[in-house]
Amino acid sequence: MTMESGAFCAPEPAPRPPKAAEGPYARCVLCLEPTEYAESAPGIVLCPVCEWQEAQRNACSG
Ligand SMILES: [Zn+2]
Repeated sequence: MTMESGAFCAPEPAPRPPKAAEGPYARCVLCLEPTEYAESAPGIVLCPVCEWQEAQRNACSG
């Protein structure tokens, strides 16, 4: 009687620092590409590509 079989697989949006309007930009911790975040942004910053890949990994893809 449940309609929520996939609910626990939903990816959680990770908190991200605000995007910087201008540089210097922080480098992605995975591929070292420039990100859209300021160099002074706290925490781990990922470029759009790695962010997307992380999102895929966090999704219920097996
Ligand atoms: Zn990257």
